[in-house]
Amino acid sequence: MSEFERTAGGAIFMDGKRLRDETVARLAEEITELGSPEICLATVLVGDDRPSRLYVNSKHKKAQESGMISRHVGLDATASQAQVEDAVGALADDESVHGILVQLPLPSGLDEEAVLDLVPADKDVDGLTERSMGRLVRGKPGHAPATPSGVMALLDRYGVETSGKRAVVLGRSTLVGLPQVLLLGRKGVDTTPTLAHSRTQDLVDVCSQADIIVAAVGVAHIITADHVKPGAAVIDVGISRTADGIVGDVDFETVQAVAGAITPMPGGTGPMTIASLLQNTFNAANLQGVF
Ligand code: NAP
Repeated sequence: MSEFERTAGGAIFMDGKRLRDETVARLAEEITELGSPEICLATVLVGDDRPSRLYVNSKHKKAQESGMISRHVGLDATASQAQVEDAVGALADDESVHGILVQLPLPSGLDEEAVLDLVPADKDVDGLTERSMGRLVRGKPGHAPATPSGVMALLDRYGVETSGKRAVVLGRSTLVGLPQVLLLGRKGVDTTPTLAHSRTQDLVDVCSQADIIVAAVGVAHIITADHVKPGAAVIDVGISRTADGIVGDVDFETVQAVAGAITPMPGGTGPMTIASLLQNTFNAANLQGVF
């Protein structure tokens, strides 16, 4: 038996909160060792969506715990495209700001692409701009999107073998699924990834061949034990808000009895998205010559 905590069914419990806390503590140590340079993460939130506000608050809290400075720009839900662009443009020009996160989605009527275009690639700690995506595809130094990066950190921390393994990613968004496939197929990681989506036929057959499943769909409990090859690692990114609280894409209770490793939802990929955002901010400060 390994050092890792296990579920009742014997799967390794891939604890995202724990790894986030380890990441925050390591960053705090590294920043102290560097002589505590000022590393600043700025967030932009338009409107007052409650979940978005909570996400932004926890990003600030964890940034501060890791020894970074954080700045927040809050705009009314009625803000115009020009007002949002001015706010992001000012952060882009401010040399004391090293990372910029625009909390998505923006209220309807605002053009997200035009706003994201204003974030310079070196400061794009969410890794969502065209230039960051281009750097990811071309293998150039830059920031990979935070959620898929967090998934990669979980696989690494919990000893999930990747080289030569088959992976299935469910969902093909530019936020999660597409960059996840790129990261899983990178040299050095070396899985053979398959990208599944709403038109994929016989999802059970496709998934049950995988050693690693990353589910980023947003349909509650779409992945059951039938989809999972015994011993596979199953990572849940999907979030469905129900009357009973947050529910993932993975039916944890049945899948944990078959899987070799599994993330909880909540408590898995969500905290790791924040950890990756902070790691990207640290790397951003380095790219911008802070240390
Ligand atoms: P999205 O843009 O809505 O993409 C969902 C994807 O799921 C699409 O590619 C869609 O296929 C696919 N899909 C829908 N129904 C399917 C089905 N029955 N079988 C297979 N694939 C299906 O969503 P997203 O932004 O990638 O987010 C995905 C989920 O992750 C959401 O629940 C979101 O809240 C959550 N999320 C969590 C975190 C975290 O930190 N844990 C971060 C970001 C997002 P088509 O392309 O064919 O439509």
